[in-house]
Amino acid sequence: MQDRPTKLKEYKTYIDGKWCDAASGKKFQTFDPYTGEPWALIPECDKADVDRACEAAWRAFDKGQWPAMTQTARGKVLRRIAALIEQHAEHLAQIEVRDNGKLISEMAAQTKYMPEWFYYYSGLADKIQGAVVPVDRPDHFNYILREPVGVCAFITPWNSPLMLTSWKLAPALAAGCTVVIKPSEFTSASLLEFMELVIDKAGIPPGVVNVVTGYGAVTGEPLVTHPRVAKVAFTGGTATGARVNELAARTFKKVSLELGGKSPNIVFDDCILDDAVSGAVSGIFAATGQTCIAGSRLLLQESIHDRFVEKLVAMAKTARLGDPSKPETQVGPVTTPPQYQKVLSYIDIAKGEGAKCVLGGGPATKDEGGGKYFVKPTIFTGVDNKMRIAQEEVFGPVLSIIKFRDEEHAIEIANDIAYGLAAGVWTQSVKRAHTMAARLRAGTVWVNTYRAVSMTMPFGGYKASGLGRENGAEAIDAYLQSKSVWINNGPGGGNPFIMKTASSS
Ligand code: NAD
Repeated sequence: MQDRPTKLKEYKTYIDGKWCDAASGKKFQTFDPYTGEPWALIPECDKADVDRACEAAWRAFDKGQWPAMTQTARGKVLRRIAALIEQHAEHLAQIEVRDNGKLISEMAAQTKYMPEWFYYYSGLADKIQGAVVPVDRPDHFNYILREPVGVCAFITPWNSPLMLTSWKLAPALAAGCTVVIKPSEFTSASLLEFMELVIDKAGIPPGVVNVVTGYGAVTGEPLVTHPRVAKVAFTGGTATGARVNELAARTFKKVSLELGGKSPNIVFDDCILDDAVSGAVSGIFAATGQTCIAGSRLLLQESIHDRFVEKLVAMAKTARLGDPSKPETQVGPVTTPPQYQKVLSYIDIAKGEGAKCVLGGGPATKDEGGGKYFVKPTIFTGVDNKMRIAQEEVFGPVLSIIKFRDEEHAIEIANDIAYGLAAGVWTQSVKRAHTMAARLRAGTVWVNTYRAVSMTMPFGGYKASGLGRENGAEAIDAYLQSKSVWINNGPGGGNPFIMKTASSS
């Protein structure tokens, strides 16, 4: 990775088990955020390709081997996927870094952990079971079947492309669904490599997993409105999620949404200070703040505010900016030019609102380790929770510090926001830990840790942070539907003009 080839790499997309170009023959470039240079060419799919992919996924679902395969056999395929990811994890991480500029240490940790999703859901594949249910009608035998929902459309963002795809793909395949995936136009290459190195080799029948690369409006919209699609699983910004939800609702698709956040990271004066300082840095400067769960609002108890800020600034100042493909780098570039502009504009907004910039506050120069789209780790104190810098997602290395008096005040500030994805709490009091966990309106609460994830723990948002949950045993339910079966073993007849209830004959 460190010797970056200059020739553009040309990718094909993967539909119905075959490698192909977009029907239009168009391609678009993908860029290395560290250098700002294009490095690959990706097929620009449009409605015609979406049609091809959805029809292939439908055939594979309706007539193909995948849903007809035994659950045990499907589980085995998922285990093969896991083993193939293990073989190629390092390479896949390098491709992600090339496309999204996140640190190799972070992306390698993600791709090495990804197999666990496929092992976990392979274990659940043969535990999908219905039930025999008693009803209050003699001679009836009733049961519930659990069936796959059908063709699923996945739309994913650029910040953790393969990991977020795995969160959807593993339970969907275990359930017996077929899928069409549209990755972000900024980071398509890692998914195409994943298709070649993993899916194509895992013994999955053609049409079960398809990819349409391209832009939101041109590729994403035909996908979320396609009549063959039964379920849409989307991860991305809240505004895009609202649009996807509206479009999908017109044809009554099932929808799950993993959206943005503005998570409070709350530090009480009874915390272990050094741990909390490190947790605050991890919450906002890891991944250059480009993570939905960023602890971008740091709530500090008044009594420790000044001491904490001093330590935090000292630690954040030492962050090494630089080439994300080098393991020693700690803060990389912002991934896309529009995102870079957005982060800088929020820094101006915060200054205009009267917040005090105590670290960073603008682009990082080459001398400071910066490359093309670098923003210095930035910290604002004196932030009021009503300010835009406190209420809106920046998705960059910009921290807002807000003071609070006591537990009640912390909860009030933490919950006074449209989002509800995650929250952090730093305290040594067990009672306070449980009280906060119960009262914070967020899908995940971390106490004395931050940014921990596991395939066994449900993940998702309250309020504008999303609909539904990924991960954990419950995530498989999003890819299944129940069918109630009534078998009458008794006599027929009875009054045909009234509903058959317990009291009617
Ligand atoms: P985005 O909303 O701009 O794009 C996400 C995906 O949606 C991309 O593939 C894009 O092409 C597609 N898209 C855009 N417009 C569309 C349309 N009209 N119809 C269908 N698809 C469309 O988000 P992004 O900038 O790629 O990612 C950053 C956002 O994602 C942040 O808000 C972040 O918080 C959120 N995110 C959430 C989670 C989570 O699990 N909650 C995880 C990662 C990122």
